Order: sequence, then C-alpha cells, then structure tokens
Amino acid sequence: MKKVWQECIECHSVYGADVVKYKCDCGGLLEVRIDLESLDSISWDDFRSRKFNVWRYFELLPFEDNERIVSLDEGGTPLYKCERLGKWLGAKDVYIKYEGANPTGSFKDRGMSVGITKALKIGVKGVACASTGNTAASLAAYSAKAGIPCIVLVPRQTVALGKLFQAILYGAKVVRLDGTFDEALSLVWKIVDEVGVYLLNSINPWRLEGQKTVAFEIVDQLGKVPRYVVLPVGNCGNISAVWKGFKEMKAIDLTESAPLMVGIQAEGASPFVDLVKEGHDTLRPIEAPNTIASAIRIGKPINWKKALFAVKESNGLVAKVSDAEIIEAQRMLASLEGIGVEPAAAASVAGTKKLIENGEIDASETIVCICTGNILKDPNPELIKGLEPLDVTPNMELIRNVFTSLLKQ
Ligand SMILES: *Cc1c(COP(=O)(O)O)cnc(C)c1O
Ligand SMILES: [Zn+2]
Repeated sequence: MKKVWQECIECHSVYGADVVKYKCDCGGLLEVRIDLESLDSISWDDFRSRKFNVWRYFELLPFEDNERIVSLDEGGTPLYKCERLGKWLGAKDVYIKYEGANPTGSFKDRGMSVGITKALKIGVKGVACASTGNTAASLAAYSAKAGIPCIVLVPRQTVALGKLFQAILYGAKVVRLDGTFDEALSLVWKIVDEVGVYLLNSINPWRLEGQKTVAFEIVDQLGKVPRYVVLPVGNCGNISAVWKGFKEMKAIDLTESAPLMVGIQAEGASPFVDLVKEGHDTLRPIEAPNTIASAIRIGKPINWKKALFAVKESNGLVAKVSDAEIIEAQRMLASLEGIGVEPAAAASVAGTKKLIENGEIDASETIVCICTGNILKDPNPELIKGLEPLDVTPNMELIRNVFTSLLKQ
C-alpha cells in the first residue's frame, strides 16, 4: 500500500490524507507527501506502456488502485521543438510545452483532475474557488464531470471573456466580485468551512499533485532533463508543483539531475520576483496589481514560500516582463510557430528572451518554456492592436489588388 500524508513545509507537523485543512495549525503551507521509498521500482518503460495523460504516472500520484478517478484525459500535451522561435530568441534548443492543449485550455486541468478525485473521496457537498478565470473554468468542468455542485468567485472587471463563458457553460454558479483576485481568494477562504464547500485554489495541496505531472511529461517526451524550465508565476502554485515533480523523479532515480526553475512575472504584478531579487524574508504584497496577462494579475501569491524553495533549491532565476514584451512574445510564438497562447502563457517566452539577452540564461543549453494557457481564452482587442483586418466591399478588382499588395508585404 502507498503511504500518503499531508505535511507542513515549516514545522513538519503531519496530518492524515483525508483531513480537510488548507494550512497547518502553525500557519505553514501543507504539502502532500508520498512515501517514495515504499514504491516498487518503476521505470520509464512502465509509464510509456500506458496512455499519455496525467494518470500515466499513477505510482507518483497520492491514490490507491481502487479509487474512482475523475478525468477528462488531461495532460499528455505536446512538447514542440521550436526552431524559428529559437532563432528569434537567439537560442539553440528551445521547446514549448503547450498546456493550452488541455481539455479546458490550461494546465489547471491537471490539478483539478486530482483535486476533484480527492473531493469525491472525501465526500464533499460542493466545491468552490476564487479565480482570475482559468481555475474557475477548470473546476467547473471537472465538477460537472463528477456531478458535484460548483461555485466560483471571479473579479468582475478583469476576468477574460473566454474563461467566464467556460465556467458558466460548464454549469458552475458564477459570482462576480467588484474587487481583485486577492480579495476574492481571501473572502472565499474565510467562508468555505462555514458554507461546507471544499476549496480548490492552489492553496489546496492535492491540486499541485496533479500539476507536478508536467515535469514527468517533459522528461518523458524529451528523453532527458532540460537545463531550464521557464514558466509564468501568479499565485506561485505551479512553479512549486513542477519543482516537486522534478525532485520526486530524482528521488526515485528516474532522473539524475534537475533543471533550474525560472519564474516570470509581469511588471505590474511582480511581488515574487521582487522578493527573490531584493532578498526580503517575507513577501510584500502589491495592493493593485495590473497587467494585460490577467491569469497572473495577482498581488499576494499564496504559495510564495513553496515557490521560493523551488527557485532557491534549483538554483533558479526570476525575471519580470512588461505588457509590451508579453504581447510581442505572444505574437512571435503564434506567427513563427503556430502556437497560440494567452498573454500570461507568453510571459514565459518573453522572460526567456530577456534572460538570454542579459546573459542569465545560457542560450546553448536546452530550454523548455511552459505555455500555460490557450490563445482562445482571452480575445482582447488590445492584443491585436496594429494587426487589425482590412475591410473590403464585394468588388473583385479591389480584392485582387489588396491580395496582390498583401503578398508583397
Ligand atoms: C493559473 C495560471 C498561471 C499562474 O499559475 P500559478 O500557479 O498561480 O502561479 C499562469 N498562466 C496561466 C494561463 C494560468 O491559468
Ligand atoms: Zn506547521
């Protein structure tokens, strides 16, 4: 039997796997732990004989064989080798791990598959989250699949249209808040126990267990450990999860090394980057975070301590990028490679460019950028400024001339 428990990352207090708790009594973040030593030895061949999705790596997920798993076939996303983008970046060996290919269009699905599987096991009455959009869309879909009531709280002014539509159509009860994501999370968190719903924000460590599988997939697909793994950072859950995945692979000798974790934030919402760069011992929240990349428009990342471990332990890097750099990277990725991502996801590419230019990333090494969300999520006219379509009347002469001159451009 697989031994699974929850453990505080600060005081190392231990809680049972089925105890519903979002923080330790000491205030520390909780982590799900699996007794890796107790696992029978597993190999890449074992994994590769199974379907390519999150559940391929079942031994490393915190469940027993007889569990009812809630899955929409999440994970198993493409890893694209990007030569044209690599030229633009000035790098030799660049890959995009395209998380936009997940069932609801973001990596959140990896975590929700595991999170909702856990919710069913505990036997919850309902689930809830605060969300900039993708968490809501994903939670809505997985609770629909499981038949569990779902309530989401999103910031009214900034939630992307595609994400809002998803949450509504997947059947969640959608509540809009006149306020920021950070306010939404703090409010939801305070009421979930009273209302009797299970909180599935990334403070919930079970979600991160699903999200860590992207690390397994990168090695599975690449056949080696890349030197750098670059990803956008918002609430700091995903970078922590991905690092946990790499550490666990190394612990059971599936790999011999681990990558440098590289976290990218937007300039207007960069409390984590500032924390790392300025070396404070605690996070200084940003009251009014602002960026076009709404998925990382977060001023008070809840998992900053785990993320700080990830960057420090991996000898990693951080950088912040402007909205203009994010938009440029989104366009380059789309027009050079045919890979469509939402702005937050493009931050990983924008950050890679910046870190190569200033010499912090060695451009001769293998770089994997995780592109976290799909282009269709956020049809914001701001993003195509200067690229607007030409409008014509139904006149053949005119259209011929327009086509001919366009081809010459
Ligand atoms: C959630 C999300 C992020 C940020 O992940 P965190 O775990 O909050 O750091 C980045 N990009 C996209 C597209 C997301 O949906
Ligand atoms: Zn503790």
